[in-house]
Amino acid sequence: MTTEQKIQQLREELRQHNHNYYVLDNATISDYDFDIKLKELEKLEEENPDFFDSNSPTQRVGGDVTKNFETITHKNRMYSLDNSYSKDDLLDWEKRVQKNLGTEDIEYTCELKYDGASINLTYENGQFIRAVTRGDGFQGDEVTTNIRTIKSIPLVPNGDYVSSFEMRGEIILPLQGFNKMNEERIANGEETYRNPRNTASGSLKLQDSSEVAKRPLDCLLYQVVTNERKYKTHFESLEAARKVGFKVPDTIVLAKSIDEVFDFVSAWDVKRHELPYETDGVVVKVNNLQQQEELGYTAKAPRWAIAYKFKAEQVSTVLNEITYQVGRTGAITPVANLEPVQLAGTIVKRASLHNADQIEKLDIRVDDTVFVEKGGEIIPKIIKVDLTKRPEYSKPTEYATNCPECGTELIRTEGDAKHYCPNEFGCAPQITGRIQHYISRKAMDIDGLGGETVDLLRKEGLIKNYADLYDLKVEQVIPLERMAEKSAQNMIEGIEKSKEIPFEKVLFALGIRFVGETVAKKLAKHFKSIDNLMQADFDTLIGVDEIGDRIAQSILDFSVDEGNKELIQRLKLYGVQLEVSAESLEGQTDKLAGKVFVVSGVFHQMSRNELKKAIEDNGGKVSSSISKKTTYIVAGDNMGPSKLTKAESLSIPIISEQDFIDMI
Ligand code: AMP
Ligand code: ZN
Repeated sequence: MTTEQKIQQLREELRQHNHNYYVLDNATISDYDFDIKLKELEKLEEENPDFFDSNSPTQRVGGDVTKNFETITHKNRMYSLDNSYSKDDLLDWEKRVQKNLGTEDIEYTCELKYDGASINLTYENGQFIRAVTRGDGFQGDEVTTNIRTIKSIPLVPNGDYVSSFEMRGEIILPLQGFNKMNEERIANGEETYRNPRNTASGSLKLQDSSEVAKRPLDCLLYQVVTNERKYKTHFESLEAARKVGFKVPDTIVLAKSIDEVFDFVSAWDVKRHELPYETDGVVVKVNNLQQQEELGYTAKAPRWAIAYKFKAEQVSTVLNEITYQVGRTGAITPVANLEPVQLAGTIVKRASLHNADQIEKLDIRVDDTVFVEKGGEIIPKIIKVDLTKRPEYSKPTEYATNCPECGTELIRTEGDAKHYCPNEFGCAPQITGRIQHYISRKAMDIDGLGGETVDLLRKEGLIKNYADLYDLKVEQVIPLERMAEKSAQNMIEGIEKSKEIPFEKVLFALGIRFVGETVAKKLAKHFKSIDNLMQADFDTLIGVDEIGDRIAQSILDFSVDEGNKELIQRLKLYGVQLEVSAESLEGQTDKLAGKVFVVSGVFHQMSRNELKKAIEDNGGKVSSSISKKTTYIVAGDNMGPSKLTKAESLSIPIISEQDFIDMI
């Protein structure tokens, strides 16, 4: 077998396993064996760059970063759908369709309306080429690199199908994955995501595709657009799509009459709560493609399809009290405390009111009877007040002026929807929240200390900030409620061990507003120490890749604060890592700052990955494709011919491995 055949064979095999696992939900290989094969393929591809293929299973892990998503005009417009809310609406639609077609002999398909973000996938000659969001229907954003990481989307459909087509579908976040993401956010002391739909659509626009790869996104397909007239009906075209690897839900059915459509609607109005993902309705389509063409489009939607929206479940109950919650960052969230009531399978006692504007908009008052709904949101929301039941003594709600926890006067900055408690260092939930964040798994990862213990330690006056943790003694901790000698020791040891945690994680642990995990990494790499970071001015900060005004200002606010300065000083004394360690600094410079490299071919003195690391360690950027922005191409043996032509046409200098080594 030639190397090329071996590569092709591995790709084929891995594709099949991916399909079995992500589309059919039926694993045919262990994770371990899959990884071994993937590594083998990676190695072969690395050694044989001529056989590079952007649709290889190795390309699904992400890694490319997109700063600005390109706007692309859709070849075929992406229409929206007309909505209907009742059986009468559907009957009216049926009449219009029948009249337009001049026949009553019409078959329909019924599909669920998947609740996510629409996507348009372009395939040419059997290969995935590009993915574009719906945007305004005429133009959308190109998000190909991010979409490639969604493993249920076939990059090379397998079997008999049309060769060039657009496949339309919905990027969704299944409930289980969404809940898991939120559990992690809670563990990290971060605010939770509101609902699966927004999170799915936000995921498409993440700059770092390896972050997208980590999210449990899925893609459900509902329409094929092609000039090749291979299929007569919508149903057939989807069945065929499913056969070649696309995830077309098998909930789709054919209906011979509008009565059968009603059956589908009624059945799913109940069963939808058992689905692994959210749906907000049903989409009914004329099945025959010839008839679809005859019906055509209105200015905004196809005449051959209509969405039927389920009614979100609603109940009415009484608002007993509005309380206010203080988050780790001091943000205040008003909460409606309701008379407990049964809704969509759970008992609801509380609903978020979001902020002061929301309360004003609803004009919601204590003792009002309110309608509560569970729609797309996981947390129920209050839709409106039943004014007919408003008691006579009712008075407009006055929003809290002071923090419910510490009594400090709340502030609200221009443009912010939320009120804040500015008493950062004296407000209990802020203190506890910050320390809980500090010890969390993705930050200092302190074993033997949990969130509740942190609150207990604070209540007992043993800690006021994260630096105080390092002063704790076993003897002080043992007398605490439910604390045995062994667990006290574990806790102190865990705290001691956190002094080895690398700087980038410490930086994240400090809980500077807007400095999440990824930003912390970038900052650590750029500034190398907390001192450098805290001395940087605004311009220096925004000069760093991906650091915007908002983050820069937050770092400045943190850095000028005397309390923070003192905390940092103390952490330093205890031996917490506040600079990048000597080992990881070794060989790092910023000699290549601002330069963008494309690496192609086989190298002798270092592997491709070592070469890429060397570029990044010296402040340069690695890109996978040649463009006007490329500064150099580092070419090894057997550089791909198409890359060579492209480099020449853009007159980008090509340098050798040795040239590169000399450069650094
Ligand atoms: P709307 O956003 O309310 O105009 O509804 C149109 C959108 O519904 C389309 O852009 C699709 O993204 C989405 N959709 C979800 N499921 C389906 C489906 N089965 N058929 C067609 N569109 C669907
Ligand atoms: Zn407060």
